[in-house]
Amino acid sequence: MNRREFIKLSGLMGAGAALPPAFLSGCSEHPLPGSGEISVTPTICDICFWKCAGLVYQEDGKPWKVVGNKNDLHSKGTLCTRGTGGLAAYSDPDRLKRPLLRTKTKGKQGFQEVSWETALDFIAERMHGIAETHGADRLAMFSHGSGGAHFKHLLKAFGCGSFAAPSFAQCRGPRDVAFRQTFGECPGSPERTDMANSRCIVLIGSHIGENLHNGQVQMLAEAISNNATLITVDPRFSVAASKSRYWLPIKPGTDLALLLAWMHVIIKDGCYDRDYVQRYTYGFAELSRHVQAFTPEWAYLETGLSPELIRETALEMAKSAPATLVHPGRHVTWYGDDTQRLRAIAILNALLGSWGRKGGFYIPETVDLPKFPVPGYPVPESTVKVAKKGKYPLARQGLTNAVVDSSIGPDSHYKGWFVYGTNLPMVMPGIRPKLEQAADSLELIVVIDILPMEITGYADVILPECTYLERYDNLRNSQERKPSLALRAPVFKPKYDSKPGWWIAKQIGERLNLGDYFPWKDYGEVLDWQLRQVGSSLLEMQEIGVKNFPRTKPLYFRNGEDIRFETPTGKIELYATKLAKYGFDPLPRYTPPEEPPEGYYRLNYGRVPAHTGSRTTNNALLFELIPENSLWVNPLVATRWGLQNGDYVQLKNTAGIVSNRIRVRVTERIRPDSVFMAHGFGHTAKRMRLTSGVGADDTELMTNIKIDPIMGATGMRANFVTFVKEAI
Ligand code: SF4
Repeated sequence: MNRREFIKLSGLMGAGAALPPAFLSGCSEHPLPGSGEISVTPTICDICFWKCAGLVYQEDGKPWKVVGNKNDLHSKGTLCTRGTGGLAAYSDPDRLKRPLLRTKTKGKQGFQEVSWETALDFIAERMHGIAETHGADRLAMFSHGSGGAHFKHLLKAFGCGSFAAPSFAQCRGPRDVAFRQTFGECPGSPERTDMANSRCIVLIGSHIGENLHNGQVQMLAEAISNNATLITVDPRFSVAASKSRYWLPIKPGTDLALLLAWMHVIIKDGCYDRDYVQRYTYGFAELSRHVQAFTPEWAYLETGLSPELIRETALEMAKSAPATLVHPGRHVTWYGDDTQRLRAIAILNALLGSWGRKGGFYIPETVDLPKFPVPGYPVPESTVKVAKKGKYPLARQGLTNAVVDSSIGPDSHYKGWFVYGTNLPMVMPGIRPKLEQAADSLELIVVIDILPMEITGYADVILPECTYLERYDNLRNSQERKPSLALRAPVFKPKYDSKPGWWIAKQIGERLNLGDYFPWKDYGEVLDWQLRQVGSSLLEMQEIGVKNFPRTKPLYFRNGEDIRFETPTGKIELYATKLAKYGFDPLPRYTPPEEPPEGYYRLNYGRVPAHTGSRTTNNALLFELIPENSLWVNPLVATRWGLQNGDYVQLKNTAGIVSNRIRVRVTERIRPDSVFMAHGFGHTAKRMRLTSGVGADDTELMTNIKIDPIMGATGMRANFVTFVKEAI
């Protein structure tokens, strides 16, 4: 028997009872007329990472509604579909309710409900044991979401230096590395895109509209209503493509060929921003030579896009420059050469002169907010760099995949994990076998979550955190057009026996004699102290929720201004000197994609507007809108396989992994060489009663993983699937 068996909570805690009929109506069971006693509390939505500020209304102490805060630049006063469904996260009857501890009775492993004292004592004792035997630095943390900061603080105080988030190696890492190598800075989050002022916007595999990144969607809508030209490059006729003047249905995997051809046209026709390029960039001569051979005719053979269309769209971009935005995208871990593709996007923006210019990328600002005074952290014996084993010199953040690899086997570096708010089996491609090996090796796995997600099955201890509507978290101080702070305050008392993250971290810290790092009774004290340093207070923020501050610097570069960029040459590096130094291509090199085997199709994936990946599919209000994913199939493919709209199929990848069943949607909106599904469905965790077993999970079908040699991300779009039709 393994030291730690994967446990599905259902089998151990009694099978889920049938759902009560009122469940689907979420929190709106009893419509409220708005005539009772109304109270309003500010919050920051946590249904996705965009962190829109909102206001939660209660009537006579009962949840009523959540709306956007009109002073908030992230949301512009309007929450998206998912954000307005946030109350159902609070009322979800499947929430984790009490701490759970892995036990073994008569040789059978299971989970037992325990008190907080027992769970926290257990964790502190194991952490102490790991520190004594191996060193405090042998703990690693995976996290996603703002509450993770409390546990980072705890682990840093303990002497740990290993932190990783899927938002880097499974999402935007290649983009951030590429832009840093080019401009010395990243696009950030929310992205510093000035879309509302753009005259031309280019979206490359970016599904804005299906991805409801609130502020971005609103800015894109504004640009469209201002008659901006929209150019969408996507193998699929996405929502954004349907709003575009140009849809380029590119052959999957060939985007870099298109980008090189666009640069070729813009340089050859001399329609780049000459003054900007001369003043601010380094390596133009090398770039010009590099793209000389990449004509639209060459790109046609790779991309399937006509040379005329490539030329026409390149000139469209140049015509509107510098108010042309080639969008940097967000989830960009596709084919393994992603840093190079994102470098090409960054370079194209530089040629058009859009970085730091109106309609391109603005200069964001945050509030200079002091940290609450606590002792300095000890210097850890090792950091997360250890997991990279000397590779990926340009990755400035931890790599989740490398941390998992360094947690397997008796001689592994890591001996314990904290996993906060991230369901690793459904965000890391093909990771389940490795998770099982890591679980068998590690001495401690603590999972902190709200729902009994798949990751809880690997834990020693499961800690039920309360939802964002029941807790304080750190002030939101994200980059924006104006410096701005937003408050998340508890609206409701924590349901069941759940607790706020700040409380849990403090309790563990005190058990480890780290009380000096947690000198507060309530986290409101920390927030109030910070707010007073910038002329506000907790009281004021409880009234207003969002406070905007005046800018201290211009929003765009000034004409002819001298600027030193944070790159080795101090210039925008078209030719990346650091890439050259580490032996990588300093100019983007195109690698043709792998072709699918006969009878297989490239697996493409994305989002639906009602869900944030696997985190929301059990939300009753959002489930009601979109309960399952569907598989987009071109009619030619459907005919070949005898598939009809509404049929259910299973998918099998080239490694023989077979998915759960998924409903077919026959549509011309996808190329015949690909299929498409939304991510986040196909849960196997039985205690998530609404969503368990509904739809198919794209992540488990990703076993052909292409690692980016520059920064170690996992390319996830190199997987091919075929059909296993139920009736066949
Ligand atoms: Fe919430 Fe939507 Fe804003 Fe995300 S974009 S934080 S889900 S309102």
